[in-house]
Amino acid sequence: LAKNTSNGIVVYEMGQDESHQRELTIIRDLPEALETGQLFMVYQPKVNIAQRQCLSSEALIRWIHPSLGFIPPDEFIRLIEQSGNIKVLTQWVIQQVLAQQVIWQKQGMQMQVAINLSAHDLQDTHLPDQIQSSLDYFGLDASLLSLEVTESAVMADTKTVICVLGELKKLGCKLSIDDFGTGQSSLAYLRDLPVDEVKIDRTFVKNIDTNKNDALIVSATVQLSHGFGFTVTAEGMENYIGLDILESFECDTIQGYYFSKPLAAAEFYQWVSAFNT
Ligand code: C2E
Ligand code: CA
Ligand code: CA
Ligand code: CA
Repeated sequence: LAKNTSNGIVVYEMGQDESHQRELTIIRDLPEALETGQLFMVYQPKVNIAQRQCLSSEALIRWIHPSLGFIPPDEFIRLIEQSGNIKVLTQWVIQQVLAQQVIWQKQGMQMQVAINLSAHDLQDTHLPDQIQSSLDYFGLDASLLSLEVTESAVMADTKTVICVLGELKKLGCKLSIDDFGTGQSSLAYLRDLPVDEVKIDRTFVKNIDTNKNDALIVSATVQLSHGFGFTVTAEGMENYIGLDILESFECDTIQGYYFSKPLAAAEFYQWVSAFNT
């Protein structure tokens, strides 16, 4: 990036220039990456506390780039959203996840999987039909698919988003509010959106054993969500201390490193087989 100073000399900021180059590389290389297996899905268990069973999971995307190495999903998802390609990526994710569920079913494992939708996906009125076609193609029940949306995604164009969410719900998909409590959060979403689950952001969960205010936010969110008939998942529980507290707050499900990091599909199958016995 070139910067004009007051005396007319153009200064190149190396740091910025490099990061701009990196961004261009990421946007340019996505199509090829999709075809060459650089992108793949990993699956993180969600553990039902009362039953101590893993009955659902979240699919998270990974990209190992030949020259850049591991690219954090937060970074490339944002760029792909900006470049207008997120719908292509989301369709790819849906295909990957449903194909994986068919494999697991053949292995005797019925597993609900949540995928992450971005703001642009929720503006797309064709999305519900596309998801229905994919479910039909793979012969899977819609209840095996859960869709996570962030509050900021809902903010974008509330009318269209509520309509799309309503259609997805009609298909029989599960809906979750992701990262609850962060961003432009509004209690009105709990009232107005047809959701099944609230996922409490890990910023409130990680210090739950030492921070009284965080604990208060989590327990109040559980109570409120239950009042609406939603289940509650706590994200990002890293150690066992949090477990007793979350259980005492009547949180339904926990997703975090304490139980497991996101795993490749084959490892995930092994993990669940061992955990659920
Ligand atoms: P998210 O949807 O909030 O996903 C949860 C993130 O928390 C994941 O990061 C997961 O690996 C991490 N996590 C889970 N348990 C723990 C824990 O105990 N401690 C800590 N420190 N972290 C934990 P990840 O995989 O890096 O994904 C980051 C974000 O990228 C996701 O946040 C999501 O917003 C986005 N993302 C990932 N995959 C996809 C995708 O397929 N599509 C879209 N649109 N977004 C995705
Ligand atoms: Ca998520
Ligand atoms: Ca989250
Ligand atoms: Ca997030």
